[in-house]
Amino acid sequence: MSDKQTQMRQLVESGRPPRWSPGRQAIVAGLGLVALSWAAEAAVDAVITKRKRSVRSLQESEEWYRTLFRQSPDSTLLIDPHTSDGVWRIVDCNDAACRMNGYAREELVGQPIDVDLPGPADPEVLAAHLARLQRMGFDRREVLHRRKDGTIFPLEASISLISLGGRELILGIDRDITERKGSDLLAHAEAAASARDEFLTVVSHEMKTPLTLMKGNLQLLRMRAEQQDDAAIRKSSETVERQVDRLTRLIDDLLDVSRVGTGRMHLEMLPFDLNDVVREAVEEQAEANPAFALRLDRHAESLWVWADRGRILQVISNLLTNAIRYSADRKEIDIRTAKDGANAVVSVTDYGIGIPEQQQVKVFELHFRGTNAPEANSGGLGLGLYISKSIIDRHGGTIGVQSSEAAGSTFSFSLPIIGEGYA
Ligand code: ADP
Repeated sequence: MSDKQTQMRQLVESGRPPRWSPGRQAIVAGLGLVALSWAAEAAVDAVITKRKRSVRSLQESEEWYRTLFRQSPDSTLLIDPHTSDGVWRIVDCNDAACRMNGYAREELVGQPIDVDLPGPADPEVLAAHLARLQRMGFDRREVLHRRKDGTIFPLEASISLISLGGRELILGIDRDITERKGSDLLAHAEAAASARDEFLTVVSHEMKTPLTLMKGNLQLLRMRAEQQDDAAIRKSSETVERQVDRLTRLIDDLLDVSRVGTGRMHLEMLPFDLNDVVREAVEEQAEANPAFALRLDRHAESLWVWADRGRILQVISNLLTNAIRYSADRKEIDIRTAKDGANAVVSVTDYGIGIPEQQQVKVFELHFRGTNAPEANSGGLGLGLYISKSIIDRHGGTIGVQSSEAAGSTFSFSLPIIGEGYA
């Protein structure tokens, strides 16, 4: 064992600290101080890291909530109700609020709530509103907002009081309820249309009952006048009878326009030969208008269609009465039926006043009246052709007109044929 090793062993066994020289003691003390400063530095580092971590997590959570606010699908606004002028001002808003109102965020922040998003502007009203909100904590109401482009839309605004950074603010969540309002309106419109239909049905029934009675009595009067050769009474009863017919047709037309408008025109579809219906309509008009020459020209043996017989008769009668009404001096009407490919075509030609060229595109519109229609016929409401087109459209057919002013018109319609000899 070396001297050094022996010295160390003695020291350990004696349990006494070594007796170092002053120089060695200074070195040891210096080393201790260094170790102490390292430990202190490590402790400070640990505190800083911890603080940094908590700042970062605070920033992260702030970022998280900001993203949540900004990207929430519901339009959300933060409103300050405690401004110096008593006007509620927008403090912040999210992307959905900007989209819904058509503004950029910068345009909304700082604005009074009643400027861009119309609401109660009067500070007194706002104060009462705030007091109520403070009592209840929450409020929901349907209001109208105005977008930047000026369009107005309905929304449901839910507002509640919140405390943020020691400030009392209002959190507003708005929902565009255009669609819901639209379906409410639709339901209202349908209910109103139903009520109107019902009303018109009852009224037309009530009006037509006395008209039928009048017509019967007038026919009796006319027959008696014919028997007694009383030309004056026969003539006046004929005139009144025509007016009764006109009123009856007007009532039916008004009822039909209402049905067409609401898509409630009921069709009873059956197979029949169109030639038969045309003949029936022509005979009816020929009897009522003996001064007119109604020429029927059939180009097809049979024209079977699948349609509502009564409604098609109504269309042909309308075309014939118009041809007669607007025939001017030439009292001739040509009616033609033909087959055109897979369609049956019926046309009615008159040689009367015709329709000015620029007005022909409007002839099937509701309430159309040609500017050249004689004043004597001003009683017409422009309903017949509109109803006729609706009927033909519903059957998958087409209707049109060819006309020259002061030379006459040809109105034609076509319906799909269902096969020759259909039975
Ligand atoms: P109304 O004849 O009762 O006014 P219509 O819908 O049947 O209603 O006709 C609309 C308009 O179309 C008429 O007012 C008239 O100006 C024009 N019209 C219709 N048929 C003819 C025709 N054959 N000749 C000239 N004008 C016509």
